[in-house]
Amino acid sequence: MDYRRFLREDVGALEEYQPVKPLDVLAEEIGMPVGQLVKLDANENLYGAPAAVYDAIAKADLHIYPDPGQNHLREAIAGYVGHGVTPEQVVGGTGADDLIDLIFRLTMPEKVAVVTPAFGMYSFLAKINRVQPIEVPRLPGTFDLDIDALRDAVDDGARIVFLTSPNNPTGNALLIEQARAVCEMDALVIIDEAYIEFGGESAAPLLAEFSNLVILRTFSKWAGIAGLRVGYALCDPGFAKLMMAIKQPYNVNVAADVAARAAIEHRAEIFETVRALIAERGRMVRLLEGLGWLKALPSASNFVLFRVEGRSAKAVVKGLRQQGVLVRYYPRPDLADYIRISAGRPEDTDRLVAALRQVALR
Ligand SMILES: *Cc1c(COP(=O)(O)O)cnc(C)c1O
Repeated sequence: MDYRRFLREDVGALEEYQPVKPLDVLAEEIGMPVGQLVKLDANENLYGAPAAVYDAIAKADLHIYPDPGQNHLREAIAGYVGHGVTPEQVVGGTGADDLIDLIFRLTMPEKVAVVTPAFGMYSFLAKINRVQPIEVPRLPGTFDLDIDALRDAVDDGARIVFLTSPNNPTGNALLIEQARAVCEMDALVIIDEAYIEFGGESAAPLLAEFSNLVILRTFSKWAGIAGLRVGYALCDPGFAKLMMAIKQPYNVNVAADVAARAAIEHRAEIFETVRALIAERGRMVRLLEGLGWLKALPSASNFVLFRVEGRSAKAVVKGLRQQGVLVRYYPRPDLADYIRISAGRPEDTDRLVAALRQVALR
């Protein structure tokens, strides 16, 4: 029997997610040692996690299964988030990505509204779950939320709304009053706050008011543990209970669990790097705008979207890559003239600027 007979009918329509390539693969392709690459393409915290996080993992009982109820983790996260959030309102996941998938599996709507340009996982996981993504473009130029267009999408049958604040890749954040207006719509509202530690106003105070609001967060961007995959949802306790009920029992592994709790415990130390990255974002903007052909969009995040003027953005990304500097380009019409660059350490910015000067000479 041919296995193809047993596949889902829409298997041909499924597209693979296009993640950034692993560093060693890129190093090989570029012909440079891994240590010489400047990784500004995936918004990781390049300062890494503090020693206390590594110590916690070293001491963990790796031979024992994790707690499926995530009790210690949920309590620590609730304390970290504040805003009156209780542990019953927290659900941990294998990264925020896991929770996006879980939300689709719990709700199975016909259509989901995705405010674009957006993080690619929303549409990717929607399609895997046979949910049709309806793109709701942000306003041209500013990339502000088009609330009327979003309302139209909900009126047209989107039962879930995905929006990100601060948004990836545009960097702009939602005002809490805008978030409130979205929560008043007849839909499950997912606000992804993956970058909230770097700026923007959290929608968390609205959780007490709106049971249709789910906030997603992660340890990947601020805490320096993207490789461990820990994210969480904040939501109504009833919704949280359902998510807990259908998740993979051990979705947060032992190393990830202790590392996330150590990160919370030692957050003062990590926030020093967060502040350094925010300062470096400002320095990067000044230096790059000084080149005369890059225009920064305002950012409340740990990356900046730059508009490339008078030359091809795609060629710039290629030119940087040849010099070992990795930044993000999106092959889609609304972002064709833009590149997204993560904020790094001062030495990363210096390499970036030197490489951009080289690109400009060609
Ligand atoms: C990076 C990112 C995530 C992924 O978070 P993980 O916890 O690493 O899965 C989620 N949302 C947005 C907008 C992101 O940029």
